[in-house]
Amino acid sequence: MRRKLVFAFFMIFLIFPQILFAAAANNAAVVSTAAKPSQGTAKNMQQVSSKSASAELLNVRYAIHNDAVKGGSTLRLVIDSSGPIEASGTMINSPSPRLIVDVKGAALGKLKKSMVLDGTIAEKVSFLAVGSKNSRILIDLPTVINNNGYRVFTLKNDPGAKKTNRVVVDIEKPVPKPVFSFTPGLKGKTIAIDPGHGGSDPGAIGNNKTQEKNVTLAVAQKVQALLTQAGAQVIMTRDTDRDVFGLNASAVDELGARTLIANKRKADVFVSIHINAFTDPSVGGIASYYYPKTGYDMMLAQNIQDKLITVSGDFPDRGVSQAGFYVMKHADMPATLLELGFISNPREEKLLNTLQFQQEAARSIVDGLESFFAQAAAVTGGGR
Ligand SMILES: [Zn+2]
Repeated sequence: MRRKLVFAFFMIFLIFPQILFAAAANNAAVVSTAAKPSQGTAKNMQQVSSKSASAELLNVRYAIHNDAVKGGSTLRLVIDSSGPIEASGTMINSPSPRLIVDVKGAALGKLKKSMVLDGTIAEKVSFLAVGSKNSRILIDLPTVINNNGYRVFTLKNDPGAKKTNRVVVDIEKPVPKPVFSFTPGLKGKTIAIDPGHGGSDPGAIGNNKTQEKNVTLAVAQKVQALLTQAGAQVIMTRDTDRDVFGLNASAVDELGARTLIANKRKADVFVSIHINAFTDPSVGGIASYYYPKTGYDMMLAQNIQDKLITVSGDFPDRGVSQAGFYVMKHADMPATLLELGFISNPREEKLLNTLQFQQEAARSIVDGLESFFAQAAAVTGGGR
């Protein structure tokens, strides 16, 4: 349900951005009259604004777009031009953080000299003439952002939709990096457990029709019981056979919904449980993955992997590897994705369905979490 709303919103945004910008533009217009352009800027503009330029900048507006799935927000600044333009952005950090956008092919025209922005993502935008045919847009920022944090591009006019040529600047709200400090023990910890797949998505399917989603849920529920017993708070991304985001969700929506649950509730760690599959049925074993993002991700994967390979059944140890799985990247906290054997291997498929394997795997994950917190506490000096 919510996915459809977000999608509809996004489509409207794509097709009629001016509708969404209207409110912000009105507000902005009020604010901008109060803004005081610097003397130098005004002087510059009067000197160089020229009738010989083929195109002029006409209007500026902005809107904040909140991403319901990822939880971030983006400020979009749009500057209309009466003719075709080119634009490019440069970030400078000195004397203060500022994004400079050079616009080729349009003079300043009747544009207001400066406008106050939202203050959180960007503070102020001001405009300078560069010669008689080009302009420069200066966007003052509260903090330094890296090159992935903004985007500058132009859009062509569309007379049918009454749209002019325009420069678009997207600036993402910088996400403060959380600082991690750990204490030993499971008691009082918040642990997100993510049983892979579910509902309409069975995951991998074995020769004997074992479905990955059922094994991952069975193991996850046993992990939940053991962790609860140990005094931890467990966040299950799903605790029944269901789609987490909703039926027919895109992969990103579905996985984003899983990490959003953990991020919102500020889990200490995120553990995603999966079963592997491969074309060659002789391939088997247990593997753990991490994406290095908090400084503790590999440590988490390694501690759990070390315990997992002690389960009975002679599962080969496939070790710990780095990978870019979505949930590991998008969980704010240290995260790991476990592959508990191969459903495509007939011997392992059989074992995966046994209560003994499921209990031993769950016990190993919990033991691995306990040894992780002990090691992480020793590293951060957060021992008590
Ligand atoms: Zn899977």
